[in-house]
Amino acid sequence: MKTRRSFLQKASISALALSLPTIPMISYSKTQSDPLFNQDEKPLRVAIMGLGSYGTRVAQAMKDCKRAKLVGLVSGTPSKIESWKKEHNIEDKNCYNYENFDQIKDNPDIDAVYVITPNGLHKEHSIRAAKAGKHVICEKPMATTVADAAEMISVCDQMGVKLLIGYRMHFEANTLEVVRKRRAGEFGEIKFFQGLSGFIIGDPTQWRLDPVLSGGGAMMDIGIYSINGARYMIGSEPLWVTAQEVKTDPVKFKEGIDETIIFQMGFPNEVVASCLSTYSMNYLDKFYLNGTKGFAEMQPSTGYGPIEGRTHESPLDNPHVTHQTTQMDQMAAMILDGKEAEIPVDGREGLKDMRIIEAIFEAAKTGEKVALV
Ligand code: NDP
Repeated sequence: MKTRRSFLQKASISALALSLPTIPMISYSKTQSDPLFNQDEKPLRVAIMGLGSYGTRVAQAMKDCKRAKLVGLVSGTPSKIESWKKEHNIEDKNCYNYENFDQIKDNPDIDAVYVITPNGLHKEHSIRAAKAGKHVICEKPMATTVADAAEMISVCDQMGVKLLIGYRMHFEANTLEVVRKRRAGEFGEIKFFQGLSGFIIGDPTQWRLDPVLSGGGAMMDIGIYSINGARYMIGSEPLWVTAQEVKTDPVKFKEGIDETIIFQMGFPNEVVASCLSTYSMNYLDKFYLNGTKGFAEMQPSTGYGPIEGRTHESPLDNPHVTHQTTQMDQMAAMILDGKEAEIPVDGREGLKDMRIIEAIFEAAKTGEKVALV
């Protein structure tokens, strides 16, 4: 345990995706008795939009899905369409680019579009998919402003399609165990949460460091995990935020791109969260929840897994399953069968994080405590 933890502390967030041999792995067997896996049920037929690094991870994970199936592609890069078509056995008629993808409305073989493009394009891409009558799964952050997020929700409501945000941790077994224990009162009265989220970002020319495409820096990308985590770990909504920004490299982290923000959130009953979001430090992927009767700590807490941790009583040792496989099967059950997620993943959940992010930016800029109600 000690060796693995010290290894993890040396790893960057992307390296946290490595499957480590000492963690029990369950094979995602086709014979599982969970009704979710009934082979007679029709799958959710999904088109991935944006065949980049995370889109590739999702597509690989979907190979093991039982209720969700990758059947379509939307990409601006013809060579990717060609290679993905071969690898994932996708029909020509289900492939689109950003100019012609509104025609997806005439394609009865696609149920949902998974938007995995840069943050600044989520609103346009989600709204176009919704207007084509397709359910929308959109990556985090769902948009770059509160107004855009609200518009996405409104259009999806009007079109009668679901809008789900790619909050994969909401389906992760160790995370759910902590949330269930907290709901059952096993930690007593919750007092404090700490969330540390960060990694050192590389290539200065990437879209994550372009304010138009990213909508912000570390906060939109990785700090959002501490915001979202504080909410599901504590189990209530913040009333106020305070924040302080530190910038060591104003060239790489230009205006509109936050490098490091330390922030605090005040919840009902004087519960406080203290968090760090950064693009300038590795080894930051940790949650700690403290209550009057116990605690939970998770490190790594939001990387691709395995998620590790313990409570005051015992280790968190649920077997690791590739997050995106579970997420997509559960989202298929939500869309096809009306199943509810234990921790919500709908557009309104995403909007709550967007409101907090905007308040944190305002607090960091003004130095004031910003109220959320
Ligand atoms: P990448 O840059 O690797 O991929 C983004 C893809 O979007 C590109 O490859 C491209 O695909 C497409 N795209 C369309 N327009 C543009 C544009 N103007 N500039 C750049 N790319 C464009 O990014 P990621 O895959 O890492 O991130 C995509 C989204 O997924 C982000 O919102 C991010 O926050 C989220 N994400 C979520 C994670 C999670 O764990 N939930 C983890 C990592 C990312 P094509 O060539 O096919 O058009």
